[in-house]
Amino acid sequence: MISNRELFLKNTAQTSSSPRLFEIVKAEGVYLYGPNGERYLDLVSGFNVSNIGHRHPSVIAAIQQQLEKYLHVTVYGEFVQAPQVKFATELLANLPSSFGSVYLTNSGAEAVEGSMKIAKKYTGRRQIIAAEKAYHGSTQGALSLIGNPAYQEAYAPLLPEIEFIQFNDISSLDIITNQTAAVIVEAIQGEAGVRVPSTEFMRALRRKCDETGAILVFDEIQTGFGRTGKMFAFEHFGIVPDVLMLAKGIGGGMPLGAFVARKEVMDVIKDNPMLGHITTFGGHPVSCAAALASLQVIQNEKLLDTVEIKAALFRKELNHPAIKEIRGMGLMMCLQLETFEHVYQVSNFCAEHGVMIDWYLHCETALRIAPPLTISETEIKHACEIIRQGIEKFI
Ligand code: PLP
Repeated sequence: MISNRELFLKNTAQTSSSPRLFEIVKAEGVYLYGPNGERYLDLVSGFNVSNIGHRHPSVIAAIQQQLEKYLHVTVYGEFVQAPQVKFATELLANLPSSFGSVYLTNSGAEAVEGSMKIAKKYTGRRQIIAAEKAYHGSTQGALSLIGNPAYQEAYAPLLPEIEFIQFNDISSLDIITNQTAAVIVEAIQGEAGVRVPSTEFMRALRRKCDETGAILVFDEIQTGFGRTGKMFAFEHFGIVPDVLMLAKGIGGGMPLGAFVARKEVMDVIKDNPMLGHITTFGGHPVSCAAALASLQVIQNEKLLDTVEIKAALFRKELNHPAIKEIRGMGLMMCLQLETFEHVYQVSNFCAEHGVMIDWYLHCETALRIAPPLTISETEIKHACEIIRQGIEKFI
């Protein structure tokens, strides 16, 4: 009989010539399970999605309750759907009062597209500024903001009037002017290999946007929902962006994204022309029910209180001369090694020994550590022991 692995390679689109090919038959808590009884401790969280662990019982219960009521009923923005309304209201309650309106999308990239549109229409300007080595998604608009030509050239022409600053370099902010519609940056650059900006940089960026009238848009698609030890990473820097883009961890494992803005900024899509941004499945009621449950889990289980302690334990247990640097904030971490070969060998060794880790799009010389925030201290110690063994064996 032809295996699922063979069918995967034959019938589903391939995005690389070396997919990792782990087959997963179940995921629960911090573990992934394979078809032959393999068990992997998940240090990737589906790329910062499973912040509260896989199949959290509260999320499963919320999904089941919504399944009894309705699935999709109409395009976003027409009918009043309680799961959307309740989730948007709870999300706003967790944000500074300047945020007044939530647009629910299918994905992170769609949140990026919508954010660029409201910034352009609200300011009447065209130029968008992003950061070198950013990652904001794979649609053509989002791809225009990826500060890495290797990923752009084959798909040119992309959006015009996009310029780039150097992330965390105050001197590069001079290109932001009163011609700039929006400056879009990750709160912490993820795919660049977890680059944490200084508070000075973030405050200078906020000041520059205030001076020029540019809309400051933060991509918190990787950093949101407790990943860095605060509900949102911008809270670490003492500034508030104008627009916040969310996805990944938002849905407790279900597909969902959002962009959040001041009410008058969001309202530009309402008319001239009306329906300025529409989406069929954005804010799917089952995803919104899951998202509300997930947000409540983060609050009720006080997950934010434990992130720093767990991060410190990782740092202590991974103190090894072959690890050049441990970058990150909270449980969004990266172990800087010397070469991609080392990263590849160590991550394969870890997988063979039941620990799933990965690397980064723009930084292949670093290992990605982003476990569910629910990981226990015993599990952290075990994961670090395996990583250390891999490092000892190959470096
Ligand atoms: N922004 C960041 C920082 C991301 O990491 C990603 C996805 O990895 C996106 C945007 C795009 O999100 P999606 O894959 O849901 O379109």
